[in-house]
Amino acid sequence: MNLELVTIGTELLLGFTVDTNGAEIARSLAAFGVRVVRRTAVPDRAEDIRDAVGAALERTGAVLTTGGLGPTRDDITKKVVADLFGAPLDFDESVWADVLARYARVQRSPVASNRSQAEVPRGALALRNRWGTAPGIWIEGKPGLAIMLPGVPLEMRMLLEHEVAPRLAARGGSSVIRSLVVRTTGIPESTLAERMGEIERDIAPLTLAYLPGVEGVDLRLSAWELPPVEADARLRAAADLLRQRAGEHVYGEGNTDLATVVLDLARARGLSLGVAESCTGGLVGGRLTEIAGSSDVFAGGIVSYGNELKSGLLGVPEKLIVAHGAVSEQVACAMALGAVGALGVDVAVSVTGIAGPGGGTETKPVGTVWLGIALAGEVEARRVNFAGIRREVRARAAQAALDLMRRKLEA
Ligand code: AMP
Ligand code: MG
Repeated sequence: MNLELVTIGTELLLGFTVDTNGAEIARSLAAFGVRVVRRTAVPDRAEDIRDAVGAALERTGAVLTTGGLGPTRDDITKKVVADLFGAPLDFDESVWADVLARYARVQRSPVASNRSQAEVPRGALALRNRWGTAPGIWIEGKPGLAIMLPGVPLEMRMLLEHEVAPRLAARGGSSVIRSLVVRTTGIPESTLAERMGEIERDIAPLTLAYLPGVEGVDLRLSAWELPPVEADARLRAAADLLRQRAGEHVYGEGNTDLATVVLDLARARGLSLGVAESCTGGLVGGRLTEIAGSSDVFAGGIVSYGNELKSGLLGVPEKLIVAHGAVSEQVACAMALGAVGALGVDVAVSVTGIAGPGGGTETKPVGTVWLGIALAGEVEARRVNFAGIRREVRARAAQAALDLMRRKLEA
């Protein structure tokens, strides 16, 4: 089944409110085999709502809207959509009783405008809203199917789950749209694509999308309108094929965080971790401590942004910094070894680089980062050059530092 989404609210077009409803609905409907084929956002203006909903019904025959169901004057969705179905609004006593009960629970009294929330287009179904005052509306007729939900994200989510999804699932048949993500890092998108070869042919009818970001390239496999068991089996087989071709660059699936992978590996080997950070200023430690339960593995770190602290706290010889510069293989190695000593840990990673926008030179342009790793008295470092603005360079460097730990701990 295909469906269009129309999100309604002037705040969405001004950019003050991010259209999270649109993304959330598209994601959860896929699980019922409902494909969102178009998304439109319109302001709280009758003609814009009428145009968008009317066109969606004409094109696709089914539309879901959010927003504009409240009691205020800018809430006009119900009236406008009811007009498209030629349905007058009737006052519904049982919906009104729900509204009154809701007000009683929060010890407030409704005002006159609240009565509009109990109006239901003739022939439509009011979707009971136990999380707010505006009911959802399900109306079917000559133009097709229109489902109206409130804009408040929590109310939208609850109505979608409890009222809309079961009804769509009942008519959607037994097919689903499902995805599986394989996460890679440390390999550029184009190199990864080369390694994949003509994978599209091998995984058909599944589709593959490359989604690059600061944490690496996610490979999203999607199964479209297949029975659930077949979708899962095909996704699993395709993911295994991807993992085979992407090799050591794969660190997980779904929304697995690389920091979790690192902590699990260290835990399994009984090793403690520490960090010595310069240009990332604590981002690596931040990533690790974001994971609940990290304290049994992660001891802590030193943010040695200035050269004095690189020497003072990590024992990096001053003459090494003078001779090679703070962003160098020698200093990255000395920082990692220094962290093992100063923190009393088994494994330490170090980061020193030029995040920009200033500070770049001919031989060490902005984005140059040296990462060091020390384990059992041995130390090594590698140089990476990251693209992007300061924020991206720092985020990529933190991810690369975690990945260096992963590779070392897997070895
Ligand atoms: P409404 O149902 O139009 O009265 O919307 C109530 C509130 O829900 C708005 O003030 C927004 O903060 C929020 N909202 C409306 N539409 C969306 C949307 N598409 N995504 C996220 N939040 C929304
Ligand atoms: Mg609104």
